[in-house]
Formats: sequence, C-alpha cells, structure tokens
Amino acid sequence: MVLAELGGSISRALQQMSNATIIDEKVLNECLNEITRALLQSDVQFKLVRDMQTNIKKIVNLDDLAAGHNKRKIIQQAIFNELCKMLDPGKPSFTPKKGKPSVVMFVGLQGSGKTTTCTKYAYYHQKKGWKPALVCADTFRAGAFDQLKQNATKAKIPFYGSYMESDPVKIGVEGVERFKKENCDLIIVDTSGRHKQEAALFEEMRQVSEATKPDLVIFVMDSSIGQAAFDQAQAFKQSVSVGAVIVTKMDGHAKGGGALSAVAATKSPVIFIGTGEHMDEFEVFDVKPFVSRLLG
Ligand code: GDP
Repeated sequence: MVLAELGGSISRALQQMSNATIIDEKVLNECLNEITRALLQSDVQFKLVRDMQTNIKKIVNLDDLAAGHNKRKIIQQAIFNELCKMLDPGKPSFTPKKGKPSVVMFVGLQGSGKTTTCTKYAYYHQKKGWKPALVCADTFRAGAFDQLKQNATKAKIPFYGSYMESDPVKIGVEGVERFKKENCDLIIVDTSGRHKQEAALFEEMRQVSEATKPDLVIFVMDSSIGQAAFDQAQAFKQSVSVGAVIVTKMDGHAKGGGALSAVAATKSPVIFIGTGEHMDEFEVFDVKPFVSRLLG
C-alpha cells in the first residue's frame, strides 16, 4: 500500500468510527483493527503495529469519547503521536561538521541504491559548501567502481578506487588517508553489497569499518523490500554500528512501513530518503511532516 492509500484507509477508518452513534469498545476496536490492517499492508512490522494498538487503547479514554469530544481528532492525534514515536529513536545521529574531517561509511544490500545514495549524499553536502569525496571500497561487484566514478565525475566530486586491487580494506584505508590529506571534510566510503544477507558480506563490512573507523555508518534500505525490513536492518546493525538510515525508492510504489521497521531495528533515525534515480532526488527526512503525509 503506497503512502497516500495508507492515509486514505486510516482516514476512512476514523470517519466510520466518527459516524457511529455510540463509541464503545467494540467500535473503537473495529476502528483500530482497520488501521492495523492498513499499516500491515504498508509493511509496518506486525509487532510494531500490535504495540501501537495496545498503546492507543491505553491512551484513548472511552469516557472522553462518549462525552462527545471530537472522537476522530482524539484518536487521530493518538495515532499521530504513536507513529512519530516509532520514527524517533530518542537520540539524533552523529552529524558531520563542515570543515572537520568525518568518515561516513555506507552499507546495504546490492541493489538497495547504496552507490547512488553515496553520490546523492555527497552532492547534497557539496551544494552546501562542503568538500566531500567518494571512496569505492566495493571490490565485489564488477562495475561498482565505474558506476561510482561516473557519478562522481558528473557531480565533480573527487573519488578513489581501483580496477586491480581486490582488498576493500586496503582501498578504504588508502582513500580515507588521501582525502584527509586533501582536507576533504566528508569522506564517504561505499562498501560492497550482496544479493542477500550473508556471512561474507558482514565480515567484510566489519573489516572495512575497523580499518577506516567511520564516524557514522549509514544503512541504506530499499523501501520496497516489504516485511523483510526489520530483519534486514537488524542483521546489519548486529554486524556494524549503524548510526543512521536512508530509505531509498520512496517514489513510485513506495511504502512507508519499512522506515518504521528500520528505525525500530537499528535504534537509529532515518536521515534522508531517496525519491528518484537522479542526483538531486534526495530529501531530508523529517518525522512530523512524514507522518502527516502518511495520515493524509
Ligand atoms: P547498490 O547496488 O546498492 O549500490 O545500488 P545502486 O546505487 O546501483 O542502485 C540500484 C538501482 O536503484 C539503480 O538503478 C538506481 O538508479 C536505483 N535507485 C537508487 N535510488 C533510487 C531512488 O531513490 N528511487 C528510484 N526510483 N531508484 C533508485
């Protein structure tokens, strides 16, 4: 279910409840069940939805509803707050400072949009006066270096990589050292992905992370992976210290639920979303506007 549909379904469920002459537990439950169904169809993890339902029942007081207060508003507010809470891990991610060198490592499955997102992230900061640089520590996928090189050249961002070297750790370290010497303040390390979560990928990620000592590890997740989001995000978090999430492909058939699951699994905030294939189709993620849009 795409975001707009989710908002529509939730609105309809609230409207139906508002239309009921008496709001008793049965009517409230029916409304919450409808909302639960809508959230599940939008790929929010089952456990998160169930917890949310329990919380709302605790917050919403049936006597208040019966007393003729604006029922729709009370419940809508409770849902809004719960969704915001789910997207807020309680602490902000590490934020690089302009002029001070930071290393940011990107991790994610192959095809998640990791390489594209590295360039978008670099380009976003470059436009704001930063001096970013890209390091291709992906020696697994044939063509990865070419792709990064092409993107970097288009955006006029310095890059480092090798066609010959097969050790991603060596490339990672060399690239970071070089760009530190060149006074770049945002050194972005792109790492290998795999088609699925596998031990070799996580071991390699761990090694690159140990050697390049990133200030921030960003987990890149494709929004269309559905209910797999929670487990995938958790698996990455267990291998490297993920500190932030970027959800890609939020254009088209984007589902909002994966973002909620990724935050819950990594205890890290979503910081940007990808909204297209182009370099500038990249938005800062803000919890409240996102949830408002979600609820229609
Ligand atoms: P990687 O294997 O994780 O490095 O993934 P790539 O960066 O090569 O991206 C895989 C595909 O997803 C490419 O065709 C990208 O153009 C596309 N892609 C990446 N981000 C987005 C996005 O936000 N929206 C859309 N529509 N496509 C994206």
